[in-house]
Amino acid sequence: MKYVLVIPDGVADEPQDSLGGKTPLQAARKPNMDKVCNMGIIGQADNVPPSLPAGSDVGTMSLFGYDPLQFHTGRAPIEAAAQGIELGPHDWAVRCNLVTVEDGLMKSFTAEQIPSDLGAELLGLMQQEQPADSPWEFIPGVSYRNLLLYRGEAGDGPFDDSTATYPPHDITDKPVAPWLPAGKGGEILQELMKASEAVFAKCDANQNRPHGAPPATNVWLWGQGKAPSLVDFKTRFGLSGAVITAVDLLRGMGRLIGWDVVEVPGATGYLDTDYTAKGQYAIKTLKEKDFVVVHVEATDEASHEGNAAEKVKALEAIDREIVGPVHEYLQSQGDYRILVSPDHPTLIRTKTHSHGYVPFTMCGTGIEADGAVTYDEPTAAKSAISIPGYEVVPLFIR
Ligand SMILES: [Zn+2]
Repeated sequence: MKYVLVIPDGVADEPQDSLGGKTPLQAARKPNMDKVCNMGIIGQADNVPPSLPAGSDVGTMSLFGYDPLQFHTGRAPIEAAAQGIELGPHDWAVRCNLVTVEDGLMKSFTAEQIPSDLGAELLGLMQQEQPADSPWEFIPGVSYRNLLLYRGEAGDGPFDDSTATYPPHDITDKPVAPWLPAGKGGEILQELMKASEAVFAKCDANQNRPHGAPPATNVWLWGQGKAPSLVDFKTRFGLSGAVITAVDLLRGMGRLIGWDVVEVPGATGYLDTDYTAKGQYAIKTLKEKDFVVVHVEATDEASHEGNAAEKVKALEAIDREIVGPVHEYLQSQGDYRILVSPDHPTLIRTKTHSHGYVPFTMCGTGIEADGAVTYDEPTAAKSAISIPGYEVVPLFIR
C-alpha cells in the first residue's frame, strides 16, 4: 500500500468578504481535492494544543503522528536537525535571529532580509568574542535565520521549563523591552543579545549596507530546546517515508523521524514555487517509499500577505498540479491512500497563524465514503470526526 499526505500550509481560514463570504477552500476550484472527499471521508483535527505556539513546527509534528505535548521541545532543535546538526543529550539549540531594533522598537525581525554572507560575518564576530572553551557556538544559516548551540556536559543545563523567550516576528513595531528572555538562563541570553549590539555596531559591512538598508542591531534569541526524542516513523508505523518541502522546519521534522528529504529544483517556499515539479517528484519518490509527504508553503505565505486571491490561486495550483496527478498515479499502481490536510489555520484577517481546527480529507483502499462532497471548513465542522491532529495519521494508516 502506498500513502501520500499533501499539506497546503495554513490553508484553513475564515469566510472572506472579498470571496463573496466563502473561505478560500470554498471559493477555490479544486476538483481533485473534492474528488478525494467524494470518494472518502472528511473530518476536522486540532494540530496545535492551546498551550503551544501556533506554528508549522507544532502543527507538522501533530500531522506526522506525534503528540506535540509529549514530544515538542522547541523550534530551534528542529531547525538544527534540518541543517544536519546532531544534538547530544546535554546540548541545547536556540534560534538566533538577526534583527533591527530602533528606538527600542522591533523594526525588522529579519534585519531587512539580511544577506547570508553578512549574517555569517556577524555571527563569526560574535564567536570571536567567546572564550575558546565557551559552550556557545554560533551557527550561520540562511539570511536572518541562524542558530546558537550550547554544547553541554552532564549536570545542570542553562535553561529549563521556566525559560521564557519570544519570537521576534510577533513583536514587529512593538517595544522589545517586555519581551526579553526571562526565567532560568534568561539573563545569559540577554547578555549575549546586549554584547552583540557593540559587536555589530563596529562591523563596517553591516553599518554600510547597499541601498540604505538598516544594519542588524543585535541577535534575538528564542525558541530554545533540546533534541526531541522521537521514535522513528518506520519503527512506529512500519512504513518508510520521505518529505518534499522547501521549508527547514519540515525538513528537520522529517529527518528527526528518519525520513528522506527530497529536494525539488524550483521549489521556493513561496508563491512562485514549481507546483508541477513537486507533483512529479512525489510520483517518482513513491516508487521507492511507502509514505510520501508533499508540503507547499505558498498558501501560508499568501495569508501572511493578507491576499485572498493569491491564496485561492495557490490552492488551485496545488489541486491541479499535485493532488490531481498524484492521485491518478496512485490509482494506476494498486492499493493506496491519499490524505489532504493543512498544519494549522493561517488567517488572512490577522495575517498570521492561528490555533483551531483544520479540515482534512482522505480516500483510498478500504476507506468507505461518508457522503461528504466538498473539502472545506463548514463541511468538516459537520463531520462526526473531530480529533487531535496526532490521531489523523494513525487513522489514515489503520
Ligand atoms: Zn505552517
